[in-house]
Amino acid sequence: MNLVFPSAPLATVAVAGSDQVFPVHRIYCVGRNYAAHAREMGFDEREPPFFFCKPADAVVCVAPGATGAFPYPSETKNCHHEMELVAAIGKGGRDIAVDQALDHVYGYALGLDMTRRDLQAKMRDAGRPWDIAKGFDHAAPIGPIHRAADVGHPARGAIWLELNGQPRQKGDLSDLIWSVAETVAHLSKFFELVPGDLIYTGTPEGVGAVVKGDRMRGGIDGLGEFEVAVV
Ligand code: MN
Repeated sequence: MNLVFPSAPLATVAVAGSDQVFPVHRIYCVGRNYAAHAREMGFDEREPPFFFCKPADAVVCVAPGATGAFPYPSETKNCHHEMELVAAIGKGGRDIAVDQALDHVYGYALGLDMTRRDLQAKMRDAGRPWDIAKGFDHAAPIGPIHRAADVGHPARGAIWLELNGQPRQKGDLSDLIWSVAETVAHLSKFFELVPGDLIYTGTPEGVGAVVKGDRMRGGIDGLGEFEVAVV
């Protein structure tokens, strides 16, 4: 192929216990997928969750055991952490049935859906897209992907985040409004899922602002912990 300039490097995520890496195709995110978080954002938890996207190269891959670096973004005074379970798609498809959806999941990772909350509120109130609030550079820190073949499909267990050692977010995967299987099934009605897609499945309550120098430490039962510094 005769490219006019070298293509951007492929976005990749480490695979736990392997020297292979997961090539990222797209990043899908689920909004308001925990009732308590929908309430804390001022919404009725009976409204169904919804989807938005981040660019694939927004991933910040945190190597196993390392502290990741999240550069504090420009044009915000209120950048929030959202600790999330990430499902990594290994087998594509469209109109996937709920009872077959987990067959499409290669594995799971810890992720942070970093959000310029002030810009999100502004865009939302103006009826404008969320891209500048959600899809900015480095907006998707992620830990290594744990293969479902090794860890199974986590459906319950604690999901939490500490900021500088203080508890901030705490929830349980069993409180997801749309389970991973339901999320995959819903999403595949709107987009053809492709191996390499990542799905950030939503955040529990307790979101809040970070500043430069903060350390975010998050974990999910069965998937370990990770740490990301705000730089
Ligand atoms: Mn989120």
